[in-house]
Amino acid sequence: MAQLSDDCFAFGGPMMSVDEAVRLIAERVTKISAVETVTLAAADGRVLAGDLAAPLPLPPFTNSAVDGYAIASRHLPTSEAQAFPLSGRVQAGASALSAVKAGEAMRIFTGAPMPEGADTVFMQEDVSLEDGKVVLPTGLKPGANVRPAGEDIPLGHAALKAGQRLRPQDVAVAAAFGLTQLSVVRRLRVAVFSTGNELVSPGEVRAAPQLFDSNRFMLMAMLRRLGCEVSDLGILRDERAALAAALREVAGSHDLILTTGGVSTGEEDHVKAAVEAVGKLVLWRMAIKPGRPVAMGIIEGTPLIGLPGNPVASFVTFVHVVRPTILALSGARQEPLLPMPVRAAFTYKKKIARREYVRVHLRRADDGVLEAVKFPREGAGLLSSLTDTDGLVELSEEVTRVAPGDSVGFLSYATLL
Ligand code: AMP
Ligand code: MG
Repeated sequence: MAQLSDDCFAFGGPMMSVDEAVRLIAERVTKISAVETVTLAAADGRVLAGDLAAPLPLPPFTNSAVDGYAIASRHLPTSEAQAFPLSGRVQAGASALSAVKAGEAMRIFTGAPMPEGADTVFMQEDVSLEDGKVVLPTGLKPGANVRPAGEDIPLGHAALKAGQRLRPQDVAVAAAFGLTQLSVVRRLRVAVFSTGNELVSPGEVRAAPQLFDSNRFMLMAMLRRLGCEVSDLGILRDERAALAAALREVAGSHDLILTTGGVSTGEEDHVKAAVEAVGKLVLWRMAIKPGRPVAMGIIEGTPLIGLPGNPVASFVTFVHVVRPTILALSGARQEPLLPMPVRAAFTYKKKIARREYVRVHLRRADDGVLEAVKFPREGAGLLSSLTDTDGLVELSEEVTRVAPGDSVGFLSYATLL
């Protein structure tokens, strides 16, 4: 398990900026050390444990980039097209039976190894055939249409770095090296609780003043997308003692505890008191909307994050607090969230010194530019504001208003996890 010191989440200021939160987490959360081996087929999304140096150059041998005719560059026609006799044929997967003779050309196909004596390939579209000879035009550069060994990745190069969350293209590199398995960080074990007397699980009987618990399923899905192994611990009642007992029970066997609800300052918000009973708690008042105080704690060395209960606040604070914590615990690179510029098609007023996220969908305007259209309502409890939109417009601390036509930064939901 990750053993963190009790004061690891301590913070001096009254309001914490989003950037400060991310920096503090990256600095103070230590990665777990357990590593395991997975097959390539199971490697997508896992965090690479160590640098991967190329055991083989890519491509492994010099080969033709096109279907065409290979010759030695010293015989390239200079003043006019010239006919060359053919000295054989080499297909992908085969080797030429003999070298290309001086003054001859060899038929070659894409991916076939360059025959000895040749270093340049004419594309078949650029030549003509006459009386069994190939007529090559002038103007081709020496070395054209050839892929030298190692041009993609040289032997020994650190092709993938420790901490890379493996993407399909990273798995392809490992496969191209001929590897069958990779060493990755063990999946994080995350315990998830919802808290609230008003909640019941889907499948249970719901009394009139109760809600089905939606956050837990959203958070578990988000965690799984980040590669975590999730323990679904259900719903806890708003009772300090029961909460405290449950937290203590899971701390030893998990790398992170995640809760939702009960972290505001009302007297029915018991998560804080429960954490204080079994561990150390700090409340982060984050300068973010939607979002509210986020509870950060340590219980027997295991970090705890208490997210707010409102679904949209829970979603947004997950992205800015839980995501960086998971990346840090698993030793993954802190992949920054980079908003892409789009044109605002809305008006918005905002408080200075607070980061705000506006739920938007994108449309292409008549002039071809992508425009962000704001979801018409603002509530942090509106699940439809997340399902009927494509992502979040990020408005930085210094912004106070947005007018139609302004350039704003858009974060697609697809890039958040
Ligand atoms: P809380 O943060 O506990 O004060 O909850 C804030 C609001 O979010 C309340 O309206 C709760 O009913 C709602 N809420 C809390 N937890 C959940 C949950 N797991 N799923 C859906 N809504 C929730
Ligand atoms: Mg509550």
